Amino acid sequence: MSTAIAQPPPPQPALSAPQRALRKLGLLRDIDLALHLPLRYEDETRLVPIASLRDGSLAQVQGTVRESRIEIRSRRQLLVVLEDGSGSELLLRLLNFYPSNQKTLAVGATIRARGEVRVGFFGREMVHPVFKAVAPDAPLPQALTPVYPASAQLPQAYLRKAVASGLARANLAELLPEGTVPAGLPPLRDALLALHHPAAGSPLDTLEDHSHPAWQRLKFDELLAQQLSQAQAQAARALLRAPAMAARTGALREQLHAALPFTLTPAQQRVVAEIDTDLARPRPMHRLLQGDVGSGKTVVAALAATTAMDAGWQCALMAPTEILAEQHFRKLISWLEPLGVGIAWLTGSRKGKARTAMVERVASGEAHLVVGTHAVIQDDVAFARLGLAIVDEQHRFGVAQRLALRSKLEQHQLEPHLLMMSATPIPRTLAMSYYADLDVSTIDELPPGRTPIVTKLFADSRRDAVVARIRQEVTAPVEPRRQVYWVCPLVEESEHLDLQNATATHAELAAALGAAVQVGLLHGRMKATEKATVMAQFSSGQLQVLVATTVIEVGMDVPNASLMVIEHAERFGLAQLHQLRGRVGRGAAASACVLLYTTPLSATGKARLKAMAETNDGFEIARRDLDIRGPGEFMGARQSGDALLRFADLAEDSALLQQARAVAPRLLRDHPQAAAAHVARWLGSKSDYLKA
Ligand code: ADP
Ligand code: MG
Repeated sequence: MSTAIAQPPPPQPALSAPQRALRKLGLLRDIDLALHLPLRYEDETRLVPIASLRDGSLAQVQGTVRESRIEIRSRRQLLVVLEDGSGSELLLRLLNFYPSNQKTLAVGATIRARGEVRVGFFGREMVHPVFKAVAPDAPLPQALTPVYPASAQLPQAYLRKAVASGLARANLAELLPEGTVPAGLPPLRDALLALHHPAAGSPLDTLEDHSHPAWQRLKFDELLAQQLSQAQAQAARALLRAPAMAARTGALREQLHAALPFTLTPAQQRVVAEIDTDLARPRPMHRLLQGDVGSGKTVVAALAATTAMDAGWQCALMAPTEILAEQHFRKLISWLEPLGVGIAWLTGSRKGKARTAMVERVASGEAHLVVGTHAVIQDDVAFARLGLAIVDEQHRFGVAQRLALRSKLEQHQLEPHLLMMSATPIPRTLAMSYYADLDVSTIDELPPGRTPIVTKLFADSRRDAVVARIRQEVTAPVEPRRQVYWVCPLVEESEHLDLQNATATHAELAAALGAAVQVGLLHGRMKATEKATVMAQFSSGQLQVLVATTVIEVGMDVPNASLMVIEHAERFGLAQLHQLRGRVGRGAAASACVLLYTTPLSATGKARLKAMAETNDGFEIARRDLDIRGPGEFMGARQSGDALLRFADLAEDSALLQQARAVAPRLLRDHPQAAAAHVARWLGSKSDYLKA
């Protein structure tokens, strides 16, 4: 018998801030660094004689300091006169400087400076040039200087060094067999060297607009990796097992159908059938259900849940916020509890004994349906038999959370089925670049009887007119009385200001509308119970006007609300505006949305408001949003780092995509090892993503 003495783990060297920043960008391996490509370049390969400097140009000069002095003009500044024998002088002007700068720029020193040239009354000058002291005969660099996507924690100089050494160490051997890479594209190693360190005189335009053959090679490789990983993920999913849930008759499903106060739209019927087909199979469903705000996704989720419960499995529904989770909870309780379904409620604010009791009901299987927030995927939550996981507003969750949900069935060596729901329709091509493996169902019509929402734009100077409009709405002689939302934006810098803003608006409206109108206030700092009280008062019509910060963004369902006012609409994103607007127009009354904006508007602000005024169609809004923001931003901050495609654009590079599509199956069949190595090279540090 050997006695093992527990060794303390070897001390891990602490990471520096830039090292942590590299990690955060996913730059872990040498190859990741080699594939971190420049945004643009600086040309330090040439010197321009001072006498030939042109106004407005960006140039590099080299000369001797003839004079260096501090002057107080409008403010203290360092003025340095440089001469290079070309017959003219250049004035370098530094408004912020350190004593060390002054030392470097001493009279007689040889200085290399780059910056924008201004030619004015007093001659040529550069304000805040980049400069360094050099030996008079110091050689010029032979290659253009790369500028990488960097960040505050990751200085450009640090990143340049890290990338250069990653590039030098990485294995860049050609992995793809002959005949795989489209004709005319360079080997990977040559392409990477050309992109990181283009030789002096390289065509900057094609390098920077990514049409250069070296870029084409990188994009082709990336698209090929994506095609291969998609095929692999599909094959891997085919091997996984999930509970096969045959729809049985006479059970919950039938009863829910019978109890619903409406009939399903044809689109809802179609997607329910698509989901049922997946659930009946013994392999995990991985499906995105997309449908515009108000298209009725919740009932589809409820019907899918009945299929799972009818087959004897538990179902979990996870939403990104407590308010949204609670809306689902109420709706599901009203539909399913009368049918004998046990429903558990798990959120962050539910703690202590109440939580323990819920967790026990989930573990015993007594709870058939579990509704909640992230709390549903905490480690201590073990399901007896989780068969179906539903994620609402899935784009608000990350890869790790989707994986955590799926791991909740591990003890049975089965995977639960996964249904993700989104009101932000993702164009098909874009979905492909974020999910290795995904089926999509779309609800493309709204329930009948909705009157389209009319959207009006108002400059903030016409606030009075808007208040008058609110008065008209809430005093209209109809039963039940009409209701109004007033949404204040999130103030990025300060939660405090945020609250102040909403509180001030609340007071202003309460004063303007008088005692006959009840105005409520809802904001993110309130306790969950306080929020619930205000929500209940608005739902029941006790409050006619609700002033809220964006906490109401998703999920509120008050059919009487017929007017939505959004203050500082220019600060919201398009998807968010559309979501907010979708809180009205839920009943029979004609509804309106007023977008209050502050001038001057930025170009994107203008484009967003214009799109809102012109269309109610969520798919059209998503298209315009994508145009305005580009794919990374469109997918949201969290997911832009999750993109499987960084360089290629599925729309723009469709010719390369075609070629990659044609090559992928051949490569998998004839050269499986090369295919695996290629995927590892491109997506190695993202291997988790391919499962999520
Ligand atoms: P979303 O897709 O935005 O989640 P909801 O599921 O909240 O939409 O549905 C919006 C409203 O429409 C709810 O009040 C819901 O009960 C109702 N609804 C859903 N389907 C239908 C239908 N087929 N006919 C009439 N009303 C429906
Ligand atoms: Mg919804």
